[in-house]
Amino acid sequence: MRTVVEKLEESRIREVANEGLGRPDVLKFWFGESDEVTPGFIREAAMASLQAGETFYAHNLGLPELRRAIAAYTHGLHPAQNTDQWFDRVAVTSGGVNGLMLASQALVDAGDEVVVVTPAWPNLVAQPQIMGARVVTVPLRVLDDGPRAGAWALDLGALLAAITPATRLLVVNAPNNPTGWTLSTQEQAAVLAHCRGTGTWILSDEVYERLYYADDTTNGAAPSFLDVARPDDRLIVAHSFSKSFLMTGWRLGWLVLPAALTHAVGKLIEFNTSCAPVFVQRAATVALQRGDEVTPALVAHLKTCRDTLVPLLRELPGVMLAEPLGGMYAFFRLEGQGDCLELAKRLVREAGLGLAPGSAFGPEAAGWLRWCFASRDPQRLLLGVERLRAWLAAQR
Ligand code: PMP
Repeated sequence: MRTVVEKLEESRIREVANEGLGRPDVLKFWFGESDEVTPGFIREAAMASLQAGETFYAHNLGLPELRRAIAAYTHGLHPAQNTDQWFDRVAVTSGGVNGLMLASQALVDAGDEVVVVTPAWPNLVAQPQIMGARVVTVPLRVLDDGPRAGAWALDLGALLAAITPATRLLVVNAPNNPTGWTLSTQEQAAVLAHCRGTGTWILSDEVYERLYYADDTTNGAAPSFLDVARPDDRLIVAHSFSKSFLMTGWRLGWLVLPAALTHAVGKLIEFNTSCAPVFVQRAATVALQRGDEVTPALVAHLKTCRDTLVPLLRELPGVMLAEPLGGMYAFFRLEGQGDCLELAKRLVREAGLGLAPGSAFGPEAAGWLRWCFASRDPQRLLLGVERLRAWLAAQR
């Protein structure tokens, strides 16, 4: 086995989840998904496709209808991008995670330097590592005081200083899992200008772009690198149907690429998955066409969940957190409880509460916990807070 594979860290979130095996009473907020089933009309489109006998291989880059629907959707959200090449800039992938891996496969050679902004979803660090890259992390820092105390923020100067002509790729995820941190348009423009100078590719993971709660949005999306980049910039944007359309189990996503790279990514898709299943692509096409029936209500509901959970967490002794501006996670520090992996396991065993340990997302987040607030019934969140409150009280 390759040493790099042997050394890959196993998921600490899974480690905590295993602690809860066979315990149906545990309230599970550890994984990044809603407990809401995919809307009926999306499921029906998949069933209709199967009924019609669409059980065959398809084009590597995705069904033309779906690529056109993605192009129209993306252009609608990011009109600043030039349109005539849109279709050629879209590759359909088997989930966001596969799209991100394809990007690493297309760009990263063994020994290359890759900069990743952390805390981050662990896959973003592991994927370039699998390609043999040397990963350099640039941690966000926590604001200690002021109205946004407990929020994670980018030190733009530190990030730009870390990106040199030796940096092949920058990987950044905003709105961020787990911190809820988002990038501003000005920051994106500064990062892009810098990366143009150093010849560095940007892999921007924007799977949470629609789960954005700040007021400065005109089109229902977080700031995107697509708002500031040219079509031929060294930029790949990764997207997913998982979050905005409640389709985690369907495994479908897409990449927005410079047109010159699309053919190469199509070749890589052939060797990875060959294509995404046609019935899943049919369902996704309908999801995009009728997205207005899903995403706005989902985002409004998630905002309610956030606004239910965050103030209650803030009241607990030793808890520090800021309201997340995007994503679907409350990320909080719990003072004086020691190692968060052990803490998360204890919370499962002793409180029946399933949270993800901050250290899963980077060493700088040790002592933090991630709570996915995408809950169909906000009452579950209240129940979870009660369990945490009672557990904390019992520690004193
Ligand atoms: N990026 C981030 C930051 C994520 O949190 C996730 C899912 N947890 C993904 C990408 C991938 O999502 P999927 O593979 O389900 O499309």
